[in-house]
Amino acid sequence: MTDYNDAKYECPCGYVYDPAEGDYEHGVMPGTAFGDLPADWLCPLCGSEKQYFELVD
Ligand SMILES: [Zn+2]
Repeated sequence: MTDYNDAKYECPCGYVYDPAEGDYEHGVMPGTAFGDLPADWLCPLCGSEKQYFELVD
């Protein structure tokens, strides 16, 4: 069991944000839910804003 939202979100460019991995290069620790990412976090590949990401089934 996990105590955080582990839903993955995909960017239009194909990048998938996985909360289990986080985004270490940009200061996001593993275990950070997508909804808890900083408002100014951008896709590390293409720079898209969070609003363009879609939930991965
Ligand atoms: Zn992207």
